[in-house]
Amino acid sequence: MSNTTFDQIGKVLREHQHFAILSHVRPDGDALGSQLALALSLEQLGKEVRVWNEDGMLEKYSFLPRAELLTKPPGAPDDVDVAIALDTAIQNRLGTALAAVRAAKIWINIDHHRSNPSYGDLVIVDPSAPATGEIIFGLIKSQALPLNHDIAENLYAAISTDTGSFQYPKTSARTFEIAAELVRVGGLDVGKISQQLYESYPRRRVELLRELLRTMRFSEQDRVAAFTLSLKTAADLGVLPEDNEGLIDHLRAVRGVIVAVFFEELTDSKVRVSMRSKDEAVDVCAICQKFGGGGHTLAAGARIRGSLAEVEEKVLEEIREVFKRKS
Ligand code: 5GP
Ligand code: MN
Repeated sequence: MSNTTFDQIGKVLREHQHFAILSHVRPDGDALGSQLALALSLEQLGKEVRVWNEDGMLEKYSFLPRAELLTKPPGAPDDVDVAIALDTAIQNRLGTALAAVRAAKIWINIDHHRSNPSYGDLVIVDPSAPATGEIIFGLIKSQALPLNHDIAENLYAAISTDTGSFQYPKTSARTFEIAAELVRVGGLDVGKISQQLYESYPRRRVELLRELLRTMRFSEQDRVAAFTLSLKTAADLGVLPEDNEGLIDHLRAVRGVIVAVFFEELTDSKVRVSMRSKDEAVDVCAICQKFGGGGHTLAAGARIRGSLAEVEEKVLEEIREVFKRKS
Protein backbone atom coordinates (compact mmCIF):
# COMPACT_ATOMS: atom_id res chain seq x y z
CA MET A 1 0.00 0.00 0.00
CA SER A 2 1.41 3.38 -0.95
CA ASN A 3 1.71 6.21 1.50
CA THR A 4 -0.66 9.11 1.97
CA THR A 5 0.87 12.53 1.30
CA PHE A 6 1.63 15.10 4.00
CA ASP A 7 -0.89 17.37 2.21
CA GLN A 8 -3.70 14.84 2.67
CA ILE A 9 -2.88 14.48 6.35
CA GLY A 10 -2.53 18.26 6.77
CA LYS A 11 -6.03 18.69 5.31
CA VAL A 12 -7.54 16.26 7.81
CA LEU A 13 -5.69 17.96 10.67
CA ARG A 14 -7.05 21.37 9.66
CA GLU A 15 -10.61 20.16 9.02
CA HIS A 16 -11.24 18.37 12.32
CA GLN A 17 -11.35 19.48 15.93
CA HIS A 18 -11.09 16.49 18.32
CA PHE A 19 -7.91 14.41 18.14
CA ALA A 20 -6.41 11.57 20.13
CA ILE A 21 -2.72 10.88 19.67
CA LEU A 22 -1.63 7.38 20.68
CA SER A 23 1.50 5.24 20.78
CA HIS A 24 2.58 1.72 21.62
CA VAL A 25 2.64 0.06 25.04
CA ARG A 26 6.00 0.20 26.81
CA PRO A 27 6.67 3.50 25.04
CA ASP A 28 10.15 4.82 24.27
CA GLY A 29 11.46 8.33 23.76
CA ASP A 30 10.44 8.36 20.10
CA ALA A 31 6.85 7.38 20.90
CA LEU A 32 6.38 9.88 23.74
CA GLY A 33 8.34 12.75 22.16
CA SER A 34 6.53 12.38 18.83
CA GLN A 35 3.14 12.30 20.55
CA LEU A 36 3.81 15.43 22.62
CA ALA A 37 5.32 17.31 19.67
CA LEU A 38 2.35 16.69 17.37
CA ALA A 39 -0.11 17.36 20.20
CA LEU A 40 1.50 20.71 21.06
CA SER A 41 1.53 21.75 17.42
CA LEU A 42 -2.18 20.91 17.03
CA GLU A 43 -2.95 22.63 20.34
CA GLN A 44 -1.36 25.80 18.91
CA LEU A 45 -3.83 25.51 16.02
CA GLY A 46 -6.67 25.60 18.58
CA LYS A 47 -7.48 21.89 18.37
CA GLU A 48 -8.70 19.68 21.22
CA VAL A 49 -6.04 17.03 21.65
CA ARG A 50 -5.89 14.00 23.93
CA VAL A 51 -2.53 12.28 24.35
CA TRP A 52 -2.82 8.73 25.58
CA ASN A 53 -0.60 5.77 26.29
CA GLU A 54 -1.58 2.62 28.15
CA ASP A 55 1.43 3.05 30.46
CA GLY A 56 1.03 6.80 30.95
CA MET A 57 4.06 9.11 31.16
CA LEU A 58 7.24 7.38 32.27
CA GLU A 59 9.24 8.83 35.13
CA LYS A 60 12.37 9.08 33.01
CA TYR A 61 10.67 11.13 30.29
CA SER A 62 8.70 13.36 32.65
CA PHE A 63 11.18 16.21 31.97
CA LEU A 64 9.84 16.52 28.40
CA PRO A 65 8.06 19.84 27.86
CA ARG A 66 4.35 19.56 28.69
CA ALA A 67 4.79 15.91 29.70
CA GLU A 68 1.66 16.26 31.85
CA LEU A 69 -0.47 16.24 28.69
CA LEU A 70 0.22 12.53 28.26
CA THR A 71 -2.03 10.37 30.42
CA LYS A 72 -3.40 6.87 30.60
CA PRO A 73 -6.53 6.48 28.43
CA PRO A 74 -9.98 6.62 30.02
CA GLY A 75 -11.85 3.34 30.36
CA ALA A 76 -14.80 4.48 28.23
CA PRO A 77 -14.77 5.78 24.63
CA ASP A 78 -14.17 9.53 24.42
CA ASP A 79 -15.38 12.15 21.97
CA VAL A 80 -12.71 11.81 19.28
CA ASP A 81 -12.97 12.55 15.53
CA VAL A 82 -9.48 11.51 14.50
CA ALA A 83 -7.22 8.88 16.08
CA ILE A 84 -3.53 9.21 15.29
CA ALA A 85 -1.24 6.27 16.01
CA LEU A 86 2.46 7.12 16.15
CA ASP A 87 5.45 4.77 16.12
CA THR A 88 3.14 1.76 16.48
CA ALA A 89 3.94 -1.18 14.20
CA ILE A 90 0.74 -3.08 14.86
CA GLN A 91 -2.59 -1.70 15.99
CA ASN A 92 -3.04 -3.95 19.00
CA ARG A 93 0.19 -2.56 20.51
CA LEU A 94 -1.92 0.51 21.31
CA GLY A 95 -3.32 -1.60 24.14
CA THR A 96 -6.08 -0.08 26.26
CA ALA A 97 -5.94 3.19 24.28
CA LEU A 98 -7.81 1.40 21.47
CA ALA A 99 -11.08 1.27 23.39
CA ALA A 100 -10.92 4.99 24.19
CA VAL A 101 -10.92 5.98 20.50
CA ARG A 102 -13.73 3.72 19.38
CA ALA A 103 -15.71 6.76 18.20
CA ALA A 104 -12.97 7.97 15.84
CA LYS A 105 -14.14 8.34 12.24
CA ILE A 106 -10.67 8.65 10.76
CA TRP A 107 -7.46 6.76 11.61
CA ILE A 108 -4.03 8.15 10.83
CA ASN A 109 -1.02 5.84 11.11
CA ILE A 110 2.45 7.42 11.07
CA ASP A 111 5.35 5.07 11.69
CA HIS A 112 8.81 3.94 10.62
CA HIS A 113 8.58 0.18 11.32
CA ARG A 114 9.03 -1.93 8.22
CA SER A 115 6.67 -4.55 9.62
CA ASN A 116 3.76 -2.04 9.86
CA PRO A 117 0.87 -3.49 7.81
CA SER A 118 -0.44 0.03 6.99
CA TYR A 119 -3.59 -0.09 9.09
CA GLY A 120 -5.80 3.01 9.10
CA ASP A 121 -7.23 5.45 6.55
CA LEU A 122 -4.26 7.77 6.10
CA VAL A 123 -0.91 6.05 6.36
CA ILE A 124 2.70 7.12 6.27
CA VAL A 125 5.10 4.27 6.95
CA ASP A 126 8.66 5.30 6.14
CA PRO A 127 11.16 2.58 7.10
CA SER A 128 14.04 4.82 5.98
CA ALA A 129 13.28 7.26 8.82
CA PRO A 130 15.40 6.53 11.91
CA ALA A 131 12.65 7.85 14.16
CA THR A 132 8.95 8.63 13.92
CA GLY A 133 9.97 12.07 15.21
CA GLU A 134 11.74 12.70 11.90
CA ILE A 135 8.48 12.02 10.00
CA ILE A 136 6.55 14.32 12.37
CA PHE A 137 9.14 17.04 11.71
CA GLY A 138 8.55 16.56 7.96
CA LEU A 139 4.80 16.83 8.44
CA ILE A 140 5.08 19.98 10.57
CA LYS A 141 7.42 21.66 8.09
CA SER A 142 5.54 20.70 4.95
CA GLN A 143 2.21 21.86 6.37
CA ALA A 144 3.64 24.97 8.05
CA LEU A 145 2.29 23.77 11.40
CA PRO A 146 3.47 25.54 14.57
CA LEU A 147 7.00 24.72 15.76
CA ASN A 148 8.21 26.30 19.00
CA HIS A 149 10.72 25.50 21.77
CA ASP A 150 8.57 22.84 23.46
CA ILE A 151 7.76 21.09 20.18
CA ALA A 152 11.42 21.22 19.10
CA GLU A 153 12.64 19.71 22.37
CA ASN A 154 10.17 16.83 22.16
CA LEU A 155 11.18 16.10 18.56
CA TYR A 156 14.86 16.32 19.43
CA ALA A 157 14.38 13.82 22.28
CA ALA A 158 12.43 11.49 19.95
CA ILE A 159 15.15 11.53 17.30
CA SER A 160 18.07 11.38 19.73
CA THR A 161 16.71 8.33 21.55
CA ASP A 162 15.67 6.33 18.47
CA THR A 163 19.00 6.93 16.70
CA GLY A 164 20.98 5.90 19.80
CA SER A 165 22.28 9.49 20.05
CA PHE A 166 22.74 9.85 16.28
CA GLN A 167 24.72 6.63 15.95
CA TYR A 168 22.52 3.94 14.37
CA PRO A 169 22.87 3.26 10.63
CA LYS A 170 19.67 5.06 9.55
CA THR A 171 21.07 8.32 10.92
CA SER A 172 21.51 10.42 7.77
CA ALA A 173 22.64 13.89 6.74
CA ARG A 174 18.97 14.83 6.88
CA THR A 175 18.79 13.63 10.50
CA PHE A 176 21.59 16.02 11.44
CA GLU A 177 19.99 18.83 9.41
CA ILE A 178 16.72 18.31 11.25
CA ALA A 179 18.51 18.21 14.61
CA ALA A 180 20.36 21.40 13.72
CA GLU A 181 17.13 23.14 12.79
CA LEU A 182 15.45 21.98 16.01
CA VAL A 183 18.37 23.26 18.09
CA ARG A 184 18.38 26.59 16.24
CA VAL A 185 14.64 27.22 16.06
CA GLY A 186 13.91 25.94 19.56
CA GLY A 187 16.99 27.46 21.17
CA LEU A 188 17.66 24.01 22.65
CA ASP A 189 20.29 23.29 25.30
CA VAL A 190 21.67 20.02 23.89
CA GLY A 191 23.91 19.32 26.89
CA LYS A 192 21.02 19.64 29.29
CA ILE A 193 18.68 17.46 27.22
CA SER A 194 21.39 14.78 26.87
CA GLN A 195 21.99 14.80 30.59
CA GLN A 196 18.28 14.35 31.23
CA LEU A 197 18.09 11.56 28.64
CA TYR A 198 21.32 9.67 29.34
CA GLU A 199 22.79 10.72 32.66
CA SER A 200 19.80 10.71 34.98
CA TYR A 201 19.13 7.00 35.36
CA PRO A 202 18.01 5.72 38.75
CA ARG A 203 20.64 3.67 40.61
CA ARG A 204 18.49 0.54 40.32
CA ARG A 205 19.01 0.57 36.54
CA VAL A 206 22.74 0.10 36.96
CA GLU A 207 22.11 -2.55 39.61
CA LEU A 208 19.88 -4.27 37.07
CA LEU A 209 22.68 -4.13 34.51
CA ARG A 210 24.99 -5.81 37.02
CA GLU A 211 22.51 -8.69 37.43
CA LEU A 212 21.96 -8.99 33.68
CA LEU A 213 25.70 -9.20 33.01
CA ARG A 214 25.94 -12.08 35.49
CA THR A 215 23.62 -14.06 33.14
CA MET A 216 25.46 -13.04 29.96
CA ARG A 217 26.38 -15.89 27.61
CA PHE A 218 27.75 -16.18 24.10
CA SER A 219 27.08 -18.66 21.30
CA GLU A 220 27.73 -19.13 17.55
CA GLN A 221 31.46 -18.38 17.93
CA ASP A 222 30.69 -15.34 20.07
CA ARG A 223 28.51 -13.81 17.35
CA VAL A 224 25.40 -14.11 19.52
CA ALA A 225 25.20 -12.64 23.01
CA ALA A 226 22.25 -12.95 25.37
CA PHE A 227 21.17 -12.08 28.88
CA THR A 228 18.05 -12.75 30.91
CA LEU A 229 15.89 -11.01 33.49
CA SER A 230 13.73 -13.25 35.65
CA LEU A 231 10.64 -12.05 37.52
CA LYS A 232 12.43 -12.80 40.76
CA THR A 233 15.41 -10.55 39.97
CA ALA A 234 13.09 -7.79 38.75
CA ALA A 235 11.14 -7.98 42.01
CA ASP A 236 14.27 -8.13 44.18
CA LEU A 237 15.64 -4.96 42.56
CA GLY A 238 12.29 -3.20 42.28
CA VAL A 239 12.90 -2.40 38.61
CA LEU A 240 10.34 -0.74 36.39
CA PRO A 241 9.84 -1.89 32.77
CA GLU A 242 11.28 1.43 31.57
CA ASP A 243 14.61 0.65 33.28
CA ASN A 244 15.31 -1.88 30.49
CA GLU A 245 15.49 0.57 27.62
CA GLY A 246 18.98 0.60 26.13
CA LEU A 247 20.55 -2.10 28.30
CA ILE A 248 20.75 -4.49 25.36
CA ASP A 249 23.20 -2.05 23.77
CA HIS A 250 25.85 -3.32 26.18
CA LEU A 251 25.68 -6.69 24.40
CA ARG A 252 25.62 -5.21 20.92
CA ALA A 253 28.66 -3.11 21.80
CA VAL A 254 30.90 -6.18 22.13
CA ARG A 255 33.30 -6.65 19.21
CA GLY A 256 32.33 -9.64 17.09
CA VAL A 257 28.78 -9.79 18.39
CA ILE A 258 26.27 -9.63 15.54
CA VAL A 259 23.04 -10.47 17.37
CA ALA A 260 22.17 -9.40 20.90
CA VAL A 261 19.17 -10.89 22.69
CA PHE A 262 17.44 -9.85 25.89
CA PHE A 263 14.96 -12.27 27.48
CA GLU A 264 12.60 -10.81 30.05
CA GLU A 265 10.17 -13.00 31.96
CA LEU A 266 6.66 -11.45 32.10
CA THR A 267 3.85 -12.11 34.56
CA ASP A 268 1.45 -13.60 31.98
CA SER A 269 3.48 -16.77 31.23
CA LYS A 270 5.15 -15.00 28.35
CA VAL A 271 8.67 -13.85 27.70
CA ARG A 272 9.49 -10.54 26.10
CA VAL A 273 12.32 -10.95 23.64
CA SER A 274 14.27 -7.94 22.49
CA MET A 275 16.75 -8.36 19.63
CA ARG A 276 19.44 -6.25 17.98
CA SER A 277 21.62 -6.93 14.93
CA LYS A 278 24.76 -5.27 13.62
CA ASP A 279 24.50 -6.82 10.14
CA GLU A 280 21.74 -6.09 7.57
CA ALA A 281 22.14 -9.71 6.39
CA VAL A 282 20.88 -10.89 9.79
CA ASP A 283 17.34 -9.56 9.86
CA VAL A 284 16.06 -9.74 13.45
CA CYS A 285 12.65 -8.40 12.37
CA ALA A 286 12.20 -11.55 10.27
CA ILE A 287 13.26 -13.73 13.21
CA CYS A 288 10.84 -11.96 15.58
CA GLN A 289 8.01 -12.15 13.04
CA LYS A 290 8.31 -15.95 13.17
CA PHE A 291 7.27 -15.60 16.82
CA GLY A 292 4.47 -13.10 16.19
CA GLY A 293 6.56 -9.99 16.83
CA GLY A 294 8.09 -7.39 14.54
CA GLY A 295 10.09 -4.17 14.37
CA HIS A 296 13.05 -3.12 12.23
CA THR A 297 15.78 -5.10 10.43
CA LEU A 298 18.34 -4.26 13.13
CA ALA A 299 16.03 -3.87 16.17
CA ALA A 300 12.99 -5.99 16.82
CA GLY A 301 11.02 -7.77 19.50
CA ALA A 302 8.29 -10.26 20.33
CA ARG A 303 6.27 -11.57 23.25
CA ILE A 304 6.38 -15.33 23.25
CA ARG A 305 4.36 -17.77 25.34
CA GLY A 306 6.36 -20.19 27.45
CA SER A 307 8.83 -20.39 30.30
CA LEU A 308 12.17 -18.60 30.15
CA ALA A 309 13.98 -21.86 29.40
CA GLU A 310 11.55 -22.84 26.62
CA VAL A 311 11.58 -19.47 24.91
CA GLU A 312 15.35 -19.11 25.19
CA GLU A 313 15.84 -22.46 23.52
CA LYS A 314 13.37 -21.79 20.69
CA VAL A 315 14.70 -18.34 19.92
CA LEU A 316 18.41 -19.22 20.09
CA GLU A 317 17.70 -22.23 17.84
CA GLU A 318 16.07 -19.94 15.27
CA ILE A 319 19.09 -17.63 15.38
CA ARG A 320 21.40 -20.65 15.01
CA GLU A 321 19.50 -21.60 11.82
CA VAL A 322 19.99 -18.12 10.40
CA PHE A 323 23.74 -18.29 10.99
CA LYS A 324 23.87 -21.80 9.52
CA ARG A 325 22.20 -20.56 6.31
CA LYS A 326 24.46 -17.53 6.23
CA SER A 327 27.78 -19.36 6.43
P1 5GP B 1 12.61 -3.04 21.93
O1 5GP B 1 13.52 -4.19 21.86
O2 5GP B 1 13.33 -1.75 22.10
O3 5GP B 1 11.47 -3.23 22.85
O4 5GP B 1 11.94 -2.97 20.50
C1 5GP B 1 12.69 -2.91 19.32
C2 5GP B 1 11.76 -2.69 18.16
O5 5GP B 1 10.94 -3.84 17.96
C3 5GP B 1 10.82 -1.54 18.40
O6 5GP B 1 10.81 -0.77 17.25
C4 5GP B 1 9.50 -2.18 18.69
O7 5GP B 1 8.44 -1.45 18.16
C5 5GP B 1 9.57 -3.54 18.05
N1 5GP B 1 8.93 -4.51 18.93
C6 5GP B 1 9.31 -4.83 20.19
N2 5GP B 1 8.50 -5.76 20.71
C7 5GP B 1 7.57 -6.04 19.78
C8 5GP B 1 6.43 -6.92 19.73
O8 5GP B 1 6.11 -7.63 20.68
N3 5GP B 1 5.71 -6.90 18.58
C9 5GP B 1 6.04 -6.12 17.51
N4 5GP B 1 5.27 -6.17 16.41
N5 5GP B 1 7.09 -5.28 17.53
C10 5GP B 1 7.85 -5.23 18.64
MN1 MN C 1 10.49 4.65 16.88
